[in-house]
Amino acid sequence: MGRQISGLGGAGGMIDMGFQNLSRLLASGKPIRVVVLDAQVYSNTGGQACTSGFLGQISDMAAYGKDQHGKEETRKELALLAMAHRNVYVLQSSQANASHLIGGVLKGLQSHYPSVFILHSPCPPEHGVGDDAATAAAKLTLESRAFPLMVYDPAEGTTLAERLSLDGNPSMQTTWPEYELSYKDADGNEASVILPITIADWAATEGRFRKHFTPAPEDDGDDDAVPFHEYLLMTPDERADKTPFIRVLDDDQRLGRLAVSQEIVALAEDRLEVWSLLRQLAGLEATDEVRGLVEGELDEEYEGKLTALRAEYEAQLSELKSSYPRVIARRMAEGLIRAGNGQRTVADLLKEIDAMPNLAPIHFDNSDATAVSTAPPPSSPAAPAVMAAPAVTTVADEEEDEEDEEIALGPYIDTARCTTCDECTNINNRMFAYDDKKQAYIKDPRVGTFKELVQAAEKCPVEIIHPGTPLNPKEKGLEKWVKRAEPFN
Ligand code: SF4
Repeated sequence: MGRQISGLGGAGGMIDMGFQNLSRLLASGKPIRVVVLDAQVYSNTGGQACTSGFLGQISDMAAYGKDQHGKEETRKELALLAMAHRNVYVLQSSQANASHLIGGVLKGLQSHYPSVFILHSPCPPEHGVGDDAATAAAKLTLESRAFPLMVYDPAEGTTLAERLSLDGNPSMQTTWPEYELSYKDADGNEASVILPITIADWAATEGRFRKHFTPAPEDDGDDDAVPFHEYLLMTPDERADKTPFIRVLDDDQRLGRLAVSQEIVALAEDRLEVWSLLRQLAGLEATDEVRGLVEGELDEEYEGKLTALRAEYEAQLSELKSSYPRVIARRMAEGLIRAGNGQRTVADLLKEIDAMPNLAPIHFDNSDATAVSTAPPPSSPAAPAVMAAPAVTTVADEEEDEEDEEIALGPYIDTARCTTCDECTNINNRMFAYDDKKQAYIKDPRVGTFKELVQAAEKCPVEIIHPGTPLNPKEKGLEKWVKRAEPFN
């Protein structure tokens, strides 16, 4: 396997184990615990490539797509293989997200099912990173989708979507998370640019991939260089004569370019395919067929509701048109009788009406075709005897307005108390962002889910995130997240 697998709670000695043996253990249903320290290289004989670790494969490009014996082989996804046993708890995690790692291990230890813990373990000498840089390397590996976090727990439900959780991965709604790169422009002024964190951006930071990056000149007007993330979206024909590149900073903080090899392109495509597969299994991404089906159903539901609303509106309008003139006429007659007192003419009264500063609305009651003025009684000096209403506000309207207000309870952060811990921005850095004082605010609640808002609220160490109410009433598992949001609103 190229990974070290050990039993927890047993004799404690490290043992190498083939997948067949592991499979037998997982199928046994016994509450065994298996820990896989995934360094992505075949370490027994010194950092060789292995097809169970894509990083190992790519570190020796001659072996990319082949096992250590030179045979073509598709990379094995140990987490998916373990999940295929169905009644197995599977955790794929890393030190990049401590709460995911600790919480996931504790849950797995308490599980009644066999548990597999696949833990990404950067190996500084093999990967070519500093001895003290393992945590930073793990973080970048996670952010670039090279090693996604996941938990598969059969105790969570009967469907795959219920059992599989991808919580903890950054910016789940986008292909790549983004970050802001600050640099000095040609005139030496401070500038910044928003860039995606791709597999290439991560690989460029590790010594083992050095040969896959070459310095590239800046745009000379006849430039075939294309940003790496855009290159990945191109068809093979469009890619002809193009070279993908990523942005880097030189020692003077100036922007530069690194051209990226085709092997890293292949690696990115492979990782994106696995990320998409995981999202599909977790119910976060629908295939075109399912999307078409759901869209058809939603269109039908929407059309039905629209027709019913239109019919209701037209009925109310027609009722209003027939009864409202009667109401106005009655009010005018009453006013004339009360206020005219035989001394004033209709023209006098109309003059008074014109001089009124604010015309009070009349509340209209459909049931008996009478109107109730909200104005003070006629005896008041400011009160006219005859009330005119520029608009009719019904009791039903007010109730509707109140409901609307409830629905519109938006999320917010007590920004001034933010400690800049990165917990919320790690969850979705398009929804949560830092202001110029490096304190978090909600940049755009529409680019994430209500679940992410609640998770951020739960993780926020100073409890200053208020999730509000959901924007999307069709979001998966909403009832649970609304309940969990309550303590924070
Ligand atoms: S989780 Fe809370 S404290 Fe941390 S960055 Fe976000 S708002 Fe600030």
